[in-house]
Amino acid sequence: MDPRRAPTAGADGAAGYDPEAVRAKYLAERDKRLVPGRAEIRDLRADEHFSHYRDDPFTPFVERDPVTDVVDVVIVGGGIAGLLAGARLREAGIERIRIIDLAGGVGGTWYWNRYPGVMCDVESYTYMPMLEELGYMPTRRYAFGEEILGHLEAIADKFDLVAGALFHTGVTRAEWDEEAARWRIRTDRGDEVGCRWYVLAVGILNLMKLPTIPGMEEFAGRSFHTARWDYEYTGGGPHEPLTGLAGKAVALIGTGASGIQCVPPLAESARHLYVFQRTPSAIGVRGNRPTAPEFARSLEPGWQRARMDNFQAIMMGRPVEVDLVDDGWTHHFAAVQHPPRQPGTTMAEYLRTGEELDYSIMEAHRRRVNELVADPVKADILKPYYRYVCKRPCFHDEYLQACNSTNVTLVDCPGGIERITEHGPVVGGEQFEVDCIVYGTGFEAELTPLFRRAGHEIVGRGGVTLGQKWADGAATLFGMMSRGFPNLFVMPAPGQQAVVTVNYTQLAVLGAEFVGGAIGQLRLRGVEVFDVSAKAEESWTQKVVDSYVDSSTMMSACTPSRINNEGHPELLNPRNGNYGRGLGDWFGYRERLEQWLVAGGFEGLELEVRSG
Ligand code: NAP
Repeated sequence: MDPRRAPTAGADGAAGYDPEAVRAKYLAERDKRLVPGRAEIRDLRADEHFSHYRDDPFTPFVERDPVTDVVDVVIVGGGIAGLLAGARLREAGIERIRIIDLAGGVGGTWYWNRYPGVMCDVESYTYMPMLEELGYMPTRRYAFGEEILGHLEAIADKFDLVAGALFHTGVTRAEWDEEAARWRIRTDRGDEVGCRWYVLAVGILNLMKLPTIPGMEEFAGRSFHTARWDYEYTGGGPHEPLTGLAGKAVALIGTGASGIQCVPPLAESARHLYVFQRTPSAIGVRGNRPTAPEFARSLEPGWQRARMDNFQAIMMGRPVEVDLVDDGWTHHFAAVQHPPRQPGTTMAEYLRTGEELDYSIMEAHRRRVNELVADPVKADILKPYYRYVCKRPCFHDEYLQACNSTNVTLVDCPGGIERITEHGPVVGGEQFEVDCIVYGTGFEAELTPLFRRAGHEIVGRGGVTLGQKWADGAATLFGMMSRGFPNLFVMPAPGQQAVVTVNYTQLAVLGAEFVGGAIGQLRLRGVEVFDVSAKAEESWTQKVVDSYVDSSTMMSACTPSRINNEGHPELLNPRNGNYGRGLGDWFGYRERLEQWLVAGGFEGLELEVRSG
């Protein structure tokens, strides 16, 4: 079987396919959404009305004295990437490791996102890291948030990463001290920590996105973002009825991966739920199930890396013997990214086949809406009209059904919400009176530059900040080190010259192995300072630029989303692209990093051994 086929899309998916008509429909739907200001967001760190949205509702804030000391490594961010880096550094014999995080504990995105129904769309056996090392088997094929958080806490415990950590602490400035050959880290709690090695693991989902809807500060009821769920108000828990919402009308803004997961529990508990939908997501089959004991027993040592590789190979369109994960990502996402090409076909024919395949997959999603949503008016609102490749897909087995409830109203607002008054949102001149607004409006993800996601000034040699250096785009070696910022490692992520993976964990695993391996070797050699050579950085950056494929013609026909820079793919900067074409050459990238470590020659780095 070719796993790139689209089995559930239906063999008759393209029957009656009229490319001109479909293109025209997709463009008309795009235009409804391509309105001025759609991508405007608030800067929550400095927002007069909404900066409190960032507060931690989960762990009480405890006063403490400022810490002034020197450690070996500071890691900013205690999510998956930071914890894995910490674990590998421990294995490399590093003793003084200090994680600093704004959260009240480890877990990163899984610390913050505790909204009802929170679950990971990537299969748990490939997404949850270090399963073999910890001897843990996820309870379900797709894990709920609390299981992932618990597992990440177990990793932190195993590698002793909590005792030295500073939680509820934000780094305000990191500055390279040339004389001491150290980074000097200052925080909003008055700490001043020196460290030889500095690791940025801030993630891509760390900044909540809140739109600028006129009047939103006038709303008189309760409001919050999905990434800071207010259980004090709603009552209940991620899997318990939200008893505080009995008798209340709730507005949910946003129907992306977060928003749709909240709908079934909100519909169950609220008197009425208004779902404000700008763009319908494509909702594929979830197919969650408990982990079968025989599956767990069948796994041989090394299985997790092999399974991640199998998933990634399919995502890259490589031939594999078996599709181990076998879900919507491997059937649909992989198929539209890499439509199979028959020998002898021209590029035009190939593109046409890809378009037809995409159409058949989207038709299958639209048919699924018809099958699951009884009211044809609601069903029409929920049908996505754009190419599958245009927007991150979602997967759920209860969302569409929940929309059938008589207490759920779908509010179609392709141009966004007009305004918000003290009573609630207004769309098409109609006032929706609600007690509570939940913003499921997402995060500043891939396209927000690292130096903004990091949230603090990173000052390198000669007083130059990373923001200044990267003003015209990223400049790195391996997407992880940048000249002028000695002893700094950035965990690989989209938008910074590494690669993009659907399974983010796999990239974090590699980044962590690289950071642990590199620092371990540098220490053994007595190296106190490294910097990237100008030549190595230029060469890596040039590779990234050279492999950039300008797909702006196709992507500008897409509904606006973060994948196409909110409708302006022509403004994407090739320097912020990937190693390799498209989403990047994952296997080539890993080989480069692994070979570099094995060679042990630190090629591309300038080294200083000051005391030796
Ligand atoms: P998202 O995908 O960015 O969705 C945000 C939603 O808010 C979209 O429906 C968006 O509409 C809507 N929106 C934004 N501004 C609006 C406005 N002014 N008026 C009306 N609607 C507005 O965010 P997310 O759902 O939090 O997901 C973000 C990422 O987190 C995902 O791509 C995924 O990587 C990750 N995630 C994963 C999972 C999972 O695995 N299950 C769960 C949650 C999050 P448009 O579509 O029109 O922009």
